[in-house]
Amino acid sequence: MTDCIFCKIANKEIPSYLIKESENFMSFLDINPHAPGHSLVIPKVHFSNLKEFEDELSSEFIKIIKDTMIDISKALNTDSFTLGINEGKLAGQAVLHLHFHIIPRFFSDKGGSIHSVVINKPNESIEEIYKKIKNESQN
Ligand code: 5GP
Ligand code: ZN
Repeated sequence: MTDCIFCKIANKEIPSYLIKESENFMSFLDINPHAPGHSLVIPKVHFSNLKEFEDELSSEFIKIIKDTMIDISKALNTDSFTLGINEGKLAGQAVLHLHFHIIPRFFSDKGGSIHSVVINKPNESIEEIYKKIKNESQN
């Protein structure tokens, strides 16, 4: 996509602090890091989000995430990470090109776990919600 900042990074039209590159993916430092070593992994081809992502690329995606973590782990001396995707506007997705955050964690870094991202306890029972999901489930 012509107007997409991550497509421009993928096409090397704009520079990045590249960490790892594979046939279909690259990882680089986030320009506005929330922690030392905060990095992003993107597919080189434009997918807006994980829902649009091609299943066939999944293992290469996981591999570059893992390899990037190993590099950061050694360089910055930590084995802890918060990993994830802001999928969709309500989750805080600002760049509409699929990207996976790798956020290294350190002692006393004032961060929380994934559980602290949202506190929105359901009004319905777990059974009711489970039934709704299973009614829509393909398999
Ligand atoms: P989102 O909220 O969409 O999950 O996060 C987008 C991330 O992309 C943000 O953490 C932001 O700092 C990062 N980002 C936005 N533009 C650029 C850029 O041009 N280069 C790099 N390296 N990171 C960017
Ligand atoms: Zn793009």
